[in-house]
Amino acid sequence: MTEMSSPTVATRAVTRRVGIMGGTFDPIHHGHLAAASEAASHCGLDHVIFVPTGDPWQKSEQTVTSAEHRYAMTVLATAGRSDFSVSRVDVDRSGPTYSVDTLRDLRRLHPEDDLFFITGADTLAKVMTWKAVEEVFSLAEFITVNRPGYVVDDADLPPHATVTQVEMPDLDISSTDCRRRASEGEPIWFLVPDGVVRYVDKHRLYG
Ligand code: ATP
Ligand code: MG
Repeated sequence: MTEMSSPTVATRAVTRRVGIMGGTFDPIHHGHLAAASEAASHCGLDHVIFVPTGDPWQKSEQTVTSAEHRYAMTVLATAGRSDFSVSRVDVDRSGPTYSVDTLRDLRRLHPEDDLFFITGADTLAKVMTWKAVEEVFSLAEFITVNRPGYVVDDADLPPHATVTQVEMPDLDISSTDCRRRASEGEPIWFLVPDGVVRYVDKHRLYG
């Protein structure tokens, strides 16, 4: 007797390698974009999600541009890359932004994917002060890039933390300097994408 076998249907989603580039992005600049691009290329990421912070708790002492303006600039800056996107998870969550909440939300939205949190050397140095740091490292591997003026130091991280270092061309650009320049009438052309220069100008974001 011949047995009829039913066709097998592949139901398992493919695991993708997804980078997460968190930041205040006030404004987003070419240091952020190059860091994401270099991390993607060196670590074989399929996609990078930029996540502008809602209310950054580390910057509670300073005035931060509204989340909607920072989100819009991030969308403008990443629009040309099909493997970049922008998430509103932090912008839409009320209260201070903690990376553990970002990662919990993105884990829920991407249950099948491997997550990689991309940071510059200055941010990695502060990770141990983050809320629920053990959980942060269990939710994502870390990729850290060099940043002028900072030394990559992963000595104090938890033993199970996975951190990959990526060397990129040093780009001595910061949002702080871009804001200062814009407020003093100096150009920010070529430090930030052209669309961001125009957006800052149109909305007079930095005076
Ligand atoms: P601010 O001066 O307002 O703190 P920033 O330029 O440091 O702004 P953030 O939004 O604070 O930008 O940084 C987001 C992420 O991008 C952090 O992980 C930071 O380390 C990284 N980063 C920012 N600028 C650079 C750069 N020039 N090179 C490498 N990484 C960078
Ligand atoms: Mg910073």
